[in-house]
Amino acid sequence: MKSIAINRRDFMKICLQTTALMGLPYGFHTKVAEAVEKEKKPTVVWLHYQECTGCSESLLRSNHPGISELILDTISLDYHETLMIGSGHQAEESLHHSVSENKGNYILVVEGAIPTKESGIYCKVGGKTAMESLAEISKNAAAIISIGTCASYGGIQAVDPNPTGAVGVGELVKDKPIINVPGCPPNPYNFLSVIFYYLTFKKFPKLDELNRPQFAYGRKIHEHCERRPHFDAGRFAEEYGDENHKAGYCLYKLGCKGPATFANCSVLRFNDVGVWPVSVGHPCIGCTEPSILFNKPIAEKVQIHDPTPPDTYPTTETKERGKGADPLTTAAVGVVAGAALGAGAVLSKKLPKGEDSEKED
Ligand code: SF4
Repeated sequence: MKSIAINRRDFMKICLQTTALMGLPYGFHTKVAEAVEKEKKPTVVWLHYQECTGCSESLLRSNHPGISELILDTISLDYHETLMIGSGHQAEESLHHSVSENKGNYILVVEGAIPTKESGIYCKVGGKTAMESLAEISKNAAAIISIGTCASYGGIQAVDPNPTGAVGVGELVKDKPIINVPGCPPNPYNFLSVIFYYLTFKKFPKLDELNRPQFAYGRKIHEHCERRPHFDAGRFAEEYGDENHKAGYCLYKLGCKGPATFANCSVLRFNDVGVWPVSVGHPCIGCTEPSILFNKPIAEKVQIHDPTPPDTYPTTETKERGKGADPLTTAAVGVVAGAALGAGAVLSKKLPKGEDSEKED
């Protein structure tokens, strides 16, 4: 811990927080801490394709209390085009060296979509197309983490008419475990939790049908949103800047995609200062959902199937995703809107019991 900018107390807090976030029982944080401290750092090769580097930037900017340092200290990041000092042939050499030295044991992190049209000429690094380099580097990887929505599903590049034929990693690589951590950008804690889980249990956590870790993408944003009581009471902002908007009313009529978006933004929040788009007045844009992000206009309202009535409070058990009623969690909102640690603990108690997503890693 001396080599990074956090003290042991903060380190244990992060372990406790990620443990709660992953839905692990209390006490597992010591196992996680032990694994992080003792296990050999997994070698990570990080490739960039069609993207804005926002995922890396968001990860690096989350510097309180040293989460980015912790991430970088927990893994052995052998290749990352934005962060590494070397460039050109030196960088390429380092990539091939680390891949051949760690055959079958390294984790490949991919940021960005892969263009496939015209043999993939729209994205080249070191003289190779993204398709060629993905095929080559993924061949001996132990597993692949697609970070961000572009690497997971194609992102903005893949929007119709998709001029470059952009796709996510899963469209091209079929013979490796792939875990998607979508978001634009994804929350660094979700990425860190996946790494911690892998270090502790030597496998990836349970995934949903879109290959997302269930602990982070198992519930809808709408379920834990602090504006949910306004939704239930029928109080909506009608226009940006109107009195209802200023009063903090629900953003559904401004196009909020929270009722159809599976992610933990409303409890985990961003930038270590407890904010997220909805808390500062912007509707959720559904950035973790391939069918929503950039495919539905920002102002378009999403369909809410079987809306929960405001005057009854059904069980918080999850029904089959997309078919059942949302668990009404108005009462929990006041609790989960607090610190992320408490929020993570609440979330962990409410993780789906598996009937809607039994896919194992
Ligand atoms: Fe929150 Fe959006 Fe749901 Fe309103 S519609 S409660 S703003 S997630």
